[in-house]
Amino acid sequence: MNYLVLDGNVRMPQIGLGVFRNPKGKDTQNAVKWALEAGYRHIDTAKAYKNEYDVGLAIKESPFKRKDIFITTKIYNEDVRSLRTEAALKRSLELLQTDYVDLYLIHWPAEGRVETFKNMIKLREENKIRAIGVSNFTIAQIKELKEKTSILPAVNQIEIHPYLTNNDVVSFCQDNGIVVTAYKPMGGGDGDLLQNKVLNEIGKTHHKSSAQIALRWGIQRNCIVIPKSTHKNRIIENFNIFDFELTTEEVQRINNLNKNLRYLSHPDEFPFD
Ligand code: NDP
Repeated sequence: MNYLVLDGNVRMPQIGLGVFRNPKGKDTQNAVKWALEAGYRHIDTAKAYKNEYDVGLAIKESPFKRKDIFITTKIYNEDVRSLRTEAALKRSLELLQTDYVDLYLIHWPAEGRVETFKNMIKLREENKIRAIGVSNFTIAQIKELKEKTSILPAVNQIEIHPYLTNNDVVSFCQDNGIVVTAYKPMGGGDGDLLQNKVLNEIGKTHHKSSAQIALRWGIQRNCIVIPKSTHKNRIIENFNIFDFELTTEEVQRINNLNKNLRYLSHPDEFPFD
């Protein structure tokens, strides 16, 4: 397992299982169980996904110790706007059946984000959160946090895949010691990214699928990747990306696929109401 280090002392596995759009109940529980069996030690959930309970249950029922698993969850807009940070975290911890989360993110840069971030700093001091971060934040919004709290988030989780390289935000974050997590690292399954000719060709060279090539490209950009699947075979496939390396030329060919295509909204255009 590869790790990236947050705040100099929190090790974050470079691949995690995403559970966005996983239905409540057995589908999520099984996905987490299969992922842990396959070697994943990091799960990415959120209040908004409504499956924190199933994630927590699957972890609790697994043979692994809590401390060996990295859990990310996220505070959602209504709790950000109303500054209910402590109550939101308390509810997430209850559902996840744990005393702390490894990483707590502000899901979207909704109004109230600066005060929420200040509250999260306090909750981190109380050991309920190991690292604090953001998601879908622009460079300007990260600078605002730094100006008003003098602290930078440990992570910014943003949409990244070969059709959306998001170079400006990635460079800014990495230059400032902020770890970048790539969400929708395989394009989210709604478009035709995984049928792309270049990804298929490179995949044939390495005897890997186009999904594995997209994920490996994310890893080689020093990002965290959080692929989602509810299928056991794909969960295993997506994890098997640490036994080969893309060449500089292959990375460049994939970089060239960028067309700034977002499957989710740009943070500046997202309606928060
Ligand atoms: P992904 O890029 O992970 O793609 C998931 C889709 O690809 C699903 O339809 C899945 O289908 C399919 N798939 C999975 N593995 C393979 C494979 N090997 N070959 C072919 N198809 C495959 O998109 P997500 O939107 O799920 O993003 C990943 C995670 O990022 C989320 O689960 C969530 O944790 C996080 N996220 C965060 C957001 C934020 O605002 N912070 C926004 C969106 C996502 P199936 O399940 O049927 O296998």
